[in-house]
Amino acid sequence: MKPSRPLIIAAITVALSSFIAMPVTAADSPVPAKNETVVKNELPNVAILATGGTIASKGAGALSLTDYGVGAGKKPVGVQQLIDAVPEIQKFANISGEQVFNIGSSKLSITDWLKLAKRVNELLKDPKVDGIVITHGTDTLEETAYFLNLVTKSNKPVVLVASMRPATALSADGPLNLVNAVALAADKSAKDKGVMVVMNDQISPAFGVTKTNSTNVATFKCPDTGYLGYMQNNVPYFVSIPAKKHTVNSEFDVSALQDLPRVDVNYVVLGSDGKLVDAMVANGAKGIVNAGVGHANMPNDVNKSLASAVKQGVAVVAASRVGSGLITPLGKFTKEGYVTAMMHNPQKARILLMLALTKTQDPKEIQRIFNEY
Ligand code: ASP
Repeated sequence: MKPSRPLIIAAITVALSSFIAMPVTAADSPVPAKNETVVKNELPNVAILATGGTIASKGAGALSLTDYGVGAGKKPVGVQQLIDAVPEIQKFANISGEQVFNIGSSKLSITDWLKLAKRVNELLKDPKVDGIVITHGTDTLEETAYFLNLVTKSNKPVVLVASMRPATALSADGPLNLVNAVALAADKSAKDKGVMVVMNDQISPAFGVTKTNSTNVATFKCPDTGYLGYMQNNVPYFVSIPAKKHTVNSEFDVSALQDLPRVDVNYVVLGSDGKLVDAMVANGAKGIVNAGVGHANMPNDVNKSLASAVKQGVAVVAASRVGSGLITPLGKFTKEGYVTAMMHNPQKARILLMLALTKTQDPKEIQRIFNEY
């Protein structure tokens, strides 16, 4: 039997009114068309700062997984293209994009770092900015994340994101990583966590994260700290909080700096002598991180050169090339005047030593810094 006309009109009215009354959540809101700049007041504001890396690289074809980018004759992708490629990010935040630089992360310099840190702090001072996403290469991602963790003056979320596969690859990991990064930076629960890295659905603390595989998408691991949390359907689920000092509790300030003190890393192998250490001192190193073996052990000749460096006013940190574990200040290190790396791998110990040297030369005070950060 056909329904009568008034019945049909009543049914349409009920359907329409329940649709209008339905609460629109961030995840349900429509995706704007490309380049549509609709500022939705109910959404947080997230700034994307693009710096380059594989996430901004193209290859010759879908199977070019390691041969891509500038080295393969392909121009890098700009920030607007990155944003336009993933309209889903607009569900989580009002997005603004900025190209800070567009460089593979193995080519970055201290000058680039200072520029990035100053811009991050400038943006975070703005009450209209709720969080920052930084797109970056994976090669030195852990270094930039840890540096920013120590010099960012805000408790708002700062999230570094990257990809292991170029934008043109089959199963490119960049787009979903970027959606997760924006969703994380836009989420209130991400405040006060220090600088984070989100890759492969895992949220890592800047202090603990390290790249462990040269090509695999599951490359970022936190051997000593474990992950801070996980992204599931673009929602962050935190399982821990960082125990080390960071961001608003950090004593380091780079706002007036144009450079950082030079710190070199000496990589120890069986049979190493002290000649590289001597060359570091001769070339003006203010600090040396010794990446020793095991619990920061080293051949006698390396020890002799490091002890002589200390006598010449160079700060020495005894670290390990092992990749995880504590190096505590035992007598064999302190008697030579060395600071010990605690849980910092050599590349992170270098960053902390550069920043420590902007404040003090005293090994006891530097050891205090290595214990706290
Ligand atoms: N070459 C890249 C970089 O800039 C590698 C990557 O992003 O995965 O670090």
